[in-house]
Amino acid sequence: MPPPTYPALSYELYPPRNAAAEESLWTSIRRLEDTRPDFVSVTYGAAGSNRETAIHLLRRLLTETTLRPLAHLTCVGTSRAELTQIVERLIGGGVRGILALRGDAPEGFEAAAGDVEHADDLVRLIREVEGRRTAQLAAGRVSVGVAAYATRHPDSPSVEQDIEVLLAKEEAGADFAITQVFFTPSDYTRLVTRARRAGVTIPIIPGVMPLTSTRRLKKLAGLAGVDVDETLWAKLDGARTDEERRRVGVTATVGLARAALDDGAPGIHLYTFNEHAAALDVLDALDLERPPEAGLAASL
Ligand code: FAD
Repeated sequence: MPPPTYPALSYELYPPRNAAAEESLWTSIRRLEDTRPDFVSVTYGAAGSNRETAIHLLRRLLTETTLRPLAHLTCVGTSRAELTQIVERLIGGGVRGILALRGDAPEGFEAAAGDVEHADDLVRLIREVEGRRTAQLAAGRVSVGVAAYATRHPDSPSVEQDIEVLLAKEEAGADFAITQVFFTPSDYTRLVTRARRAGVTIPIIPGVMPLTSTRRLKKLAGLAGVDVDETLWAKLDGARTDEERRRVGVTATVGLARAALDDGAPGIHLYTFNEHAAALDVLDALDLERPPEAGLAASL
């Protein structure tokens, strides 16, 4: 298939924690669906803590919307046999995109012999399960995505190791990568330059998040191990109203996304926090040229 000539668009959602959150998430899903993204990704709690709500959301996306879901899956703390069963269940349920992740182990966690310890092993496991299911998959293979880091992963000794790991994930069978959040456009450019020099050829999609509050920025920085951007923090902190804060956050996110696209990024993955308003503001400002029908997921 020839490479797409338009920027990919995708959103990240997380499984809702209660009925009220589910209702509000579905309002957002319907608004986001109108923008015809290539896929929407559904996060997965560490060690499968929210496995059933994630699978429930994936099932609803498959049966009640036109959206193509990308199921996140983490391997740390889950046995190889159980991971195989989950992948079988996802593929059997119609999921055709999986984001293979390690996840974060709880303090003091020790892997057992034979465990799937890193994301590249998980990519191989997914490809093995896929290989056993070729008849069922006649309508299309599984797209496997992986994580990439525009700034050093907190457990890595160096950005060079991050690139070696990304290459290992591609060699294991990954089709594309999505980056962790980043705040400086040149971080994405540097990642892509290093990756290409090392032989990584898969698309690397920048993950960007509308940062519309200092609380969210702080939480995100802690979760992702990414340093808080001082300038953005000061601007958000200095905003007098929620409306002004939202404008500041959206402007910063549009700047990041636009710089990445101008630099050749294959598209944009928007971390939504299950809210559509800021994501749609970013999209409006970006004014991406999109085809009448989404369709990139199959070629990623
Ligand atoms: P890996 O690629 O396995 O790397 C983890 C660390 O191990 C790195 O420091 C790497 O250098 C090192 N490493 C990798 N392979 C080897 C090897 N063979 N030998 C030695 N060292 C190695 N977390 C969740 O819990 N749920 C989610 O839904 C989720 N979604 C995410 C989505 C995106 C787009 C991103 C970027 C991250 C997401 N995360 C999620 C967070 C992710 O799980 C963490 O960043 C985690 O710490 C690393 O995951 P990874 O897949 O990059 O791991």
